[in-house]
Amino acid sequence: MGAAFVFVLFSLFLKKFIQHRLAILYRSVQTKQEDTQLPYLEESLDIMIENAEENVQQWRKFQIKEISKLKEQEAFRREFLGNLAHELKTPIFSIQGYILTLLEGGLEDDKINRKFLERASISTDRIVGILDDLDNITKMEDEKFQLKMESFDIVALAKETFESLELMAEEKNISFKLEESGEPSFVVADREKIGQVLTNLVRNSIAYGNTGGSTTITIFTIDELTTIEVTDNGIGINETEHTRLFERFYRVEKSRTRNEGGSGLGLAIVKHIIESHNQKISVKSTPGIGSQFHFSLDKS
Ligand code: ADP
Repeated sequence: MGAAFVFVLFSLFLKKFIQHRLAILYRSVQTKQEDTQLPYLEESLDIMIENAEENVQQWRKFQIKEISKLKEQEAFRREFLGNLAHELKTPIFSIQGYILTLLEGGLEDDKINRKFLERASISTDRIVGILDDLDNITKMEDEKFQLKMESFDIVALAKETFESLELMAEEKNISFKLEESGEPSFVVADREKIGQVLTNLVRNSIAYGNTGGSTTITIFTIDELTTIEVTDNGIGINETEHTRLFERFYRVEKSRTRNEGGSGLGLAIVKHIIESHNQKISVKSTPGIGSQFHFSLDKS
């Protein structure tokens, strides 16, 4: 009888001790997993240890996932800063070169002083363009960012986009075509942001288009969705690159050297805007034949 009493007392004491130690352990690893169950005194020792084992396994899996997420973010941050530095270096080095040449006597040489100042000004515009795009993308990533949804005619917006890029197209003798039903086509979206999408897509169709080529915007509605396609007959993009095109600063190798004007953020901005409208941007493209970017919006 006495021995049984001592055994019960001892096992109760042992359980209490283990529960106390486990509770301390749980608390020290519990920063993220608020729902972890603390051990109960009513449980048998075996169950208590079994549960603790299971909880530790769960905690381990959770930590591994968190660590790989942090590593991914760190790699992304490093790549992003590297790309940004690379993008800014080119125009800054050219400005530096022009200023040095002017200081070393070029300023007095009427043949080059104006020309070099104009080129330095173009490089400054390029830096401003990169910073504007960065500013845009950062604002869109802000949790407080909200679309200004309204009903508007997408055909009219496509015409405005063509008008604003007419001069750029003329330089490469690229013609614009608009294919639509001939009637206004109302959609519900953020007009200014969709204007930016069209501008970026049409600007790319010119930048990567061939001299004498064409850019077509096609608009059609099926059921509740209005689809907008921007098609060019330019240099095209290899299929292996299609998924990466929308990453920040990603450039197809061949166009890297050709492209002097873009920030490398144009398609990343396009993707962001279209996805904030709960839609998808897709690309179809064949090298040497041309590219087509298309997306849909809710019909008004
Ligand atoms: P960029 O400022 O370099 O144009 P974008 O994000 O707008 O940056 O585009 C990313 C890359 O996708 C471009 O550098 C180019 O290689 C490719 N690209 C985009 N649009 C087209 C197009 N219409 N035809 C061919 N290549 C394109």
